[in-house]
Amino acid sequence: MATVQLKNICKVYDGGVKAVDNVNIDIEDKEFVVLVGPSGCGKSTTLRMIAGLEDITSGELLIDGKLVNDVPPKDRDIAMVFQNYALYPHMTVYDNMAFGLKIRKFAKEEIDRRVRAAADILEITELLDRKPKALSGGQRQRVAVGRAIVRQPKVFLFDEPLSNLDAKLRVQMRAEISALHHRLQATMIYVTHDQVEALTMADKIVVMKFGVIQQIGKPLELYNEPQNKFVAGFIGSPPMNFLETKVEARGNDIYIVEVAPENEKEETKQFKPFDLKVLPEQAKFLKPYVGKEVIFGIRPEDVEFSKEAQEGVTINGHTTVVEPLGSETHVYVATKNGQVIGKIDPKHTVTSGVRIALVPDMTKAKFFDPDTELVLGSKVPLMAPSAVGQKKED
Ligand code: ADP
Repeated sequence: MATVQLKNICKVYDGGVKAVDNVNIDIEDKEFVVLVGPSGCGKSTTLRMIAGLEDITSGELLIDGKLVNDVPPKDRDIAMVFQNYALYPHMTVYDNMAFGLKIRKFAKEEIDRRVRAAADILEITELLDRKPKALSGGQRQRVAVGRAIVRQPKVFLFDEPLSNLDAKLRVQMRAEISALHHRLQATMIYVTHDQVEALTMADKIVVMKFGVIQQIGKPLELYNEPQNKFVAGFIGSPPMNFLETKVEARGNDIYIVEVAPENEKEETKQFKPFDLKVLPEQAKFLKPYVGKEVIFGIRPEDVEFSKEAQEGVTINGHTTVVEPLGSETHVYVATKNGQVIGKIDPKHTVTSGVRIALVPDMTKAKFFDPDTELVLGSKVPLMAPSAVGQKKED
């Protein structure tokens, strides 16, 4: 059993940098939780406070319901895997894995049993006599994980463990860590800036920005129901398209109309700003915005190629870049006042520099308030705008 609770956790570094701002997370036993966000958002600081490597400025950290703010790292029963692996270069793989147990005065036989069992799980038995410099990046990574496994900790912490690996190995190790989680049935907290790692590995994702939690949820919850523009843009690749639009009432219907640019580009003079009729349930929450601007969000996979432009239905523009990927084609479309990336069926032959019309699936459309950047019409209560996170510096 190992639950981890962060209650109103703050971290202010010497010099006044507020790296973590009132963070609340409930981590259940056996859960795989990923903290994700751009560089500098406070995820490593949060992890290091859980590890006990960084003091907690205020708030409470509980492991299995016990307050551990002042418990030293070695007594917290957690093991951490670092980005740079932190292996001892002069020791063999075996000794690197055994070291933590030796200093904890485990019996030699028990150490041997645990090291060999972990080596077996990680398929590194034949490397036990080697020194780290004779290992590939992926093998070093496995040794670093092995060193954590032998401790049989209550909680595993991972700090960007895959970022030093090449793209192919990263995909492989990602699956291995997920399989390991399944096998060990342990509580794991994993930090990454890579939203794909978060989506593929997590039971629960915590998205952070400027030290503030933006949203916590299951991967597909965040993907399908992002609470604000930041989460919508951060989760998913290519990212969600955002376009500035104005809300208009036409008879009983509500339309969003692309805001015209201040300086018209030559290529886009030939077509009008797009307008889109919204669905009746969207009209309900957009009515108060009539005459005002909202940000229209649509994911690249939620637009379809259309043969012709159609008022109220299509986004019109011209293609600037076409990327055929085999299974799908990414088209970059310059609209009157912005850009839309579309993932379209490769059966449509599209070249760059031509007129194109895309039909957005309005059932998937998102609308954001331009000031608070919160999603409109959410079915769940949203965090207060003040909690969305403001950049502290500049
Ligand atoms: P992330 O892991 O998301 O990249 P960090 O937790 O490392 O972010 O950093 C969060 C913020 O705290 C950043 O603004 C960073 O510059 C600052 N920071 C990190 N470590 C220290 C430190 N030891 N002293 C002062 N500021 C720090």
